[in-house]
Amino acid sequence: MALVPMKQILEEAKKKGYGVGAYNVNNMEQIQAIMAAAQETQSPVIIQASRGALKYSNFTYLGYLMKAAVIENPTIPVAMHLDHGNSLDSAKKAIDLGFSSVMIDGSLKEDGKTPSDYEYNVNVTKSVVEYAHKYGVTVEAEIGRLGGIEDGVGSGSAHITDPQEALQFVKDTGVDALAIAIGTSHGAYKFKGAKVLAFDVLQEVRKLIDIPIVLHGASSVPKELIDAVNKYGGKMPGAEGVPMEHLQKAIKLGVQKINVDTDGRLAMTATIRKVFTESPEKFDPRDYLGPARTALQGLIASKMKAFGTAGHASDYAPLTLEDMKKAYSK
Ligand SMILES: [Zn+2]
Repeated sequence: MALVPMKQILEEAKKKGYGVGAYNVNNMEQIQAIMAAAQETQSPVIIQASRGALKYSNFTYLGYLMKAAVIENPTIPVAMHLDHGNSLDSAKKAIDLGFSSVMIDGSLKEDGKTPSDYEYNVNVTKSVVEYAHKYGVTVEAEIGRLGGIEDGVGSGSAHITDPQEALQFVKDTGVDALAIAIGTSHGAYKFKGAKVLAFDVLQEVRKLIDIPIVLHGASSVPKELIDAVNKYGGKMPGAEGVPMEHLQKAIKLGVQKINVDTDGRLAMTATIRKVFTESPEKFDPRDYLGPARTALQGLIASKMKAFGTAGHASDYAPLTLEDMKKAYSK
């Protein structure tokens, strides 16, 4: 089994200067597609479930599907990560399910909508760090606020990260990885005008803090996928994402974890729409979920290559959560 703490995956990436995608999952086909891509490209991988995904799948189902991914791929370092946990309670639930990493998003209050203040963020993050580290589990937190709304998470207003505040936050919380806001946003409609990311802020944060940096809302929303969705009856005018060159630049400047959800949704939806349009007689879910799974594998494999993750699966001996427990208790 190679369930590894996310901290190790990200610190290895930081040492060697590549990025690791964290891909959101809701069901079996998505998990299988991502793992097949990791095998194909020999990449370490982070599979992440949002609170919405866990609720949709009734927690246990998704937790065990993610564990199956670990069992079926013993040579691939896999982190099971909770995306946008909103409370100590949500972190506890994920850790009970066997996750090796949790995010606590204290940039928003527990409703996942109302912007919080610095003190609230520090307090809730600290409580999760204290709890998770006892189990050897990695903690990601967020400082600044992303725009957009996804899975019901988001305030709708963005707030670019203040580098000095990021430094103070890391000192105050002891967190393992930090999500910062530099102009990306959740969802399929990320930019209205120019696609500008605050690379200067990223550079400044990277100078000040030593832990891995996370970029949320980092789907590229490829034009060919939007065109395919629209060609087969979809309606997604004006969808825009972060160009891959921007993500590659962010990796060069010091981002290690890149969150991708929207692009996976688009790849599956485009494929399913195509099957339904071209073969209206089909009604076996395998006839559309199978091709959707294949399309998603292709998309994720291309991201693993573009982020530089490919070929790094066997660079290091995986640490266990037990190892991390000891390391944290020192
Ligand atoms: Zn996010």
